[in-house]
Amino acid sequence: MTDCIFCKIASGEIPTKKIYEDQKFLAFLDVNPRAVGHCLIIPKKHAATLTDLPKEDAGPIFQIVQHLAKIITERLGAKGYNIGSNNGESAGQAVPHLHLHIIPRYDTDKHKAGFEAAFQVNEDAKKDIDKTLSTITRGKIIPPVKTTSSSPAANPSSSAKEQDETEDKKGEPKWCFNDEDDIGDDTIEH
Ligand code: 5GP
Ligand code: ZN
Repeated sequence: MTDCIFCKIASGEIPTKKIYEDQKFLAFLDVNPRAVGHCLIIPKKHAATLTDLPKEDAGPIFQIVQHLAKIITERLGAKGYNIGSNNGESAGQAVPHLHLHIIPRYDTDKHKAGFEAAFQVNEDAKKDIDKTLSTITRGKIIPPVKTTSSSPAANPSSSAKEQDETEDKKGEPKWCFNDEDDIGDDTIEH
């Protein structure tokens, strides 16, 4: 997308503090960190929200979040982390290109636990971003991680519909709802 700031970051047109990159995904430090090491993981190809992301990329992006959360917390000495993603303007999404936040948390944080508090700005976290970057990356961005995905990636020609049918046949849960499905009573057939 031509006018999207995260597409420009993905293409290298806008510089950023990169911590991870592979063929499809990129992670970089948030310009307005809510805690030291606050970073964002994005697909390089524009997708506005999680539901716009190709199905076969949904698993891998979360595997990368898991991988980076471990490295970041270890290298920065964080005690925990928040994972968050705002999807849609009404959900508070300021940049309409899908991004998942990893916000490391520390014992010294004045931050109060809970989702609402997770995104509160910590001015101290803005102070030495280059030091944070080098502590996380140790001078070299984190190498690509091998992710596993379900059948569409193994067989890129198979459509999401085909995959759902295959899963149905295998007796797996059908996670895809349509208008006729009753989603009100929380029942999922196994
Ligand atoms: P949202 O509110 O959409 O979930 O979060 C958008 C995030 O992107 C914010 O935390 C904001 O600080 C960050 N952000 C916005 N523009 C830039 C930018 O140009 N570079 C970086 N690194 N982060 C950005
Ligand atoms: Zn974009």
